[in-house]
Amino acid sequence: MSTHEGGPGLPQERRIVTEIPGPRSQEIHARRQAVVAAGVGSVLPVYVEKAGGGVVVDVDGNSLIDLASGIAVTSVGNSAPAVVQGVTEQVAAFTHTCFMVAPYEGYVEVCEKLAALTPGDHAKKAALFNSGAEAVENAVKIARVHTGRDAVVVVDHAYHGRTNLTMAMTAKNMPYKQGFGPFAGEVYRAPMSYPFREPAPITGPEAAARTIEVIEKQVGADNVACVVIEPVLGEGGFVVPAPGYLTAVSEWCTAHGVVFVADEIQSGMCRTGTWFASEHEDVVPDLVTVAKGVAGGLPLAAVVGRSEMMDAVHGGGLGGTYGGNPVACAAALGAIATMEELDLNARARAIEATMTERLRILADKAPAIGDVRGRGAMIAIEIVRPGTTEPDAALTSAIATGCHQQGVLMLTCGTFGNVLRFLPPLVMPDHLLDEALDVLEEVVTGLV
Ligand SMILES: *Cc1c(COP(=O)(O)O)cnc(C)c1O
Repeated sequence: MSTHEGGPGLPQERRIVTEIPGPRSQEIHARRQAVVAAGVGSVLPVYVEKAGGGVVVDVDGNSLIDLASGIAVTSVGNSAPAVVQGVTEQVAAFTHTCFMVAPYEGYVEVCEKLAALTPGDHAKKAALFNSGAEAVENAVKIARVHTGRDAVVVVDHAYHGRTNLTMAMTAKNMPYKQGFGPFAGEVYRAPMSYPFREPAPITGPEAAARTIEVIEKQVGADNVACVVIEPVLGEGGFVVPAPGYLTAVSEWCTAHGVVFVADEIQSGMCRTGTWFASEHEDVVPDLVTVAKGVAGGLPLAAVVGRSEMMDAVHGGGLGGTYGGNPVACAAALGAIATMEELDLNARARAIEATMTERLRILADKAPAIGDVRGRGAMIAIEIVRPGTTEPDAALTSAIATGCHQQGVLMLTCGTFGNVLRFLPPLVMPDHLLDEALDVLEEVVTGLV
C-alpha cells in the first residue's frame, strides 16, 4: 500500500512512465480476470492508487488527466478536503444506524440543502437512496401513488439505470438490456429532440408536439403517471434538446396531471454551470432525481420534489437499509459546501467556454467531428463520416484509445457509440484542461 496522499495535494501533471496499462496494472488485471465477473467492464484498466484535482495516478506511477470524473461523480475533485474531513469525522463517530431505525441530523441537513438548491421556490421534500437507479425507481413509485396511474413515459436515447424497471426505461439494448428481460411493464418510449439528427430542422416546441402526440395517441394522457427525462441526455450522447422542448413537455405534463420528473443524476450538481440543468430552460420539474456528483464519490442519491407529491406515499413506503447512510450524507454536505465556496457553477461555465472554443476550431479542421455540443463541463463531440451524419463508432473508439495511450482518460457514449464525452472535475486546473485538449487535437489530426 502506498503511503502517498491523494486528493488535491497531488502534482497536477500528465506523466507517462510506462506503457498504458503498465506492468503492475497488468498484474492486477490478470488477478481480476480470475475473480471479477466478466460482465463488469472497465474503460481503461489502469489500476488507481490515488487521485485528486484533475489527475488520476495509477499503481505504475502514471499520472493521467481525468476527463471522466468517474462518470460525472467527482465534480469537486477526488478526496476534496471538505469531503475527507466530513467523512473522517462521521466515520469515527458512527457509521450506520439506519435512518429508518434511529435517525441522525446529517440526513435532514442533506434534504434541506437539496430542497433549497433544486429549481422552484415551492415547498419541497426529499428522500435519500444509494444509487441513481434506485432514485429513478423511487421517483416512479412516488408518481404512481400520487397520480393513481401506471404508465411511465421515457424518450429515445434515454438512460436511467440497470435495475429491472430502469432497464425498461433505458433505450439502448447493448450492453444494458441484452438478455436481461423480461422488463417491467407500463413503460412507453416517445421521440426526443436531437437537433443534430433531425431529418429536417424542427424547433423545440415542434419536437415537443411530436413527443406529446405519441404519448396521447399510444398511451393516453389520463394513464400517464410521469414523464421522466434527462434535461441533457447522459449516456445517450450528451444531447441538448432544442430550446423550448423541455418547457413544452413540462407544461403539457402540468396541464394533464402528469408528474414531470427531471433525471438530473448526470446533469445536476453544478455539472452544466447551474445547480440543475433544468434551470437553463427555466423548467421547474415536479420531481428531480439526484446522484453522481452529489457526494464527492460516496454513494448517495435522492428524489427531491413537491411536498404534496413526496408525501403521497404511506409511512414506511420509501426507504432502504443504507439509503442516506451517515457517512455518505457527511460527504454530500462537504461536497455541496465545496461547490458553494469555490463557485463551481462559474467554473463549469468557464470550462464550457474553453472547451467549446477549442473543439469548434478542431471541428473546422476535422470534418469527422459532426457536432460539438453540451452545457457547462458536460461537453461532447459526435464523430461521423465527413459530410454526413453517419456514425463512426470505430473512429470514436480509436480516438479514445489514442488519448488513453497519451495519458488522457475520456469516455464515449451515445446510442451509436460515436460520441466522445468530456466530464472533467470542476476543479481541473486550466493548464491540464488545455493540455488534455492539445492531446485530443494531436490524436484526432493523426487519425483523420
Ligand atoms: C448514471 C445514471 C443513472 C443511474 O445511476 P446509478 O448510480 O448508476 O444507478 C440514472 N440516470 C442517469 C441520467 C444517469 O446518468
